[in-house]
Amino acid sequence: MLSFKLIYDHRYDLNLGDHVFPSQKYRLVYERLLYGKIADSSDFLPPRPAQDEDVLRVHTPEYVRKLKTGSLSHAEIQQLEIPYSRELIEACWLAAGGSILAGQRALQDGWSANIGGGFHHACPDHGEGFCVIHDVAIAIRRLQSETAIERAMVIDTDVHHGNGTAAIFAEDKTVFTLSIHQLHNYPFIKPPSTMDINLPDGVDDEDYLAVLDEHLREAFSDFTPQIIFYVAGADPYREDQLGGLALTMPGLARRDALVMDYARKNKSSLVITLAGGYARRVEDTVAIHVATIVAARDAAAKQAAGN
Ligand SMILES: [Zn+2]
Repeated sequence: MLSFKLIYDHRYDLNLGDHVFPSQKYRLVYERLLYGKIADSSDFLPPRPAQDEDVLRVHTPEYVRKLKTGSLSHAEIQQLEIPYSRELIEACWLAAGGSILAGQRALQDGWSANIGGGFHHACPDHGEGFCVIHDVAIAIRRLQSETAIERAMVIDTDVHHGNGTAAIFAEDKTVFTLSIHQLHNYPFIKPPSTMDINLPDGVDDEDYLAVLDEHLREAFSDFTPQIIFYVAGADPYREDQLGGLALTMPGLARRDALVMDYARKNKSSLVITLAGGYARRVEDTVAIHVATIVAARDAAAKQAAGN
């Protein structure tokens, strides 16, 4: 049994078939956590869908109306790069509710993970790059609205820049956004985060970890978050089809441990969201996400031991 909760719902799976976005990964991560005896069924909590009021703190009424009534234009659906369906909208509202619940539980237990979410490309008035609505921003705005927190940090290690996060919090000093990503990759327009780490192609474990450590140190000397949303993309992996960095699985696990160390030392709650992962073998993407949960288990144990 874990000392923190995992948020998951079978409806996170969009059943996209052989699409490059392996939405079956959520179910596979869940099964691997359970059958690998990393978690037991009592560690999982089901999310409730976000309320429209929550979504509207981040997204425009016009965009939300189009999503709910199925009236996106052909171009808007193309920009999403996944097919529109009622199930898609249900899954996205659930994932946003999952990140809200994970935020609430992390404030209570120190740690939590949404076995989904991390849809960092969603912008206030449109979705793009497999991201329909921005679950992390929705959760942060909800926690702020119920005065559970004032200050949040988003640490985004997905290989792609967190353009939606940067756009949503551009004018907001209460949310520190950090994105470490491959410069020459999607999205081609990268609005500035509070801190952007633009990596050249092919960066390996050692260079990645050194630069991330240096920037995390600087970020935490400027800002003291009460909660961190960790957008733990699996796509900096060397075998990723949509990424051009060269991290190994052990390197990605060290990345997770590094981010969690900063959370622990700075006494901040931490929420994990999965974000991207498009490895040639879906089992690799699943293994990387599972390793992130294992890293959280180990970090929570260290914290409990007072280290
Ligand atoms: Zn990505």
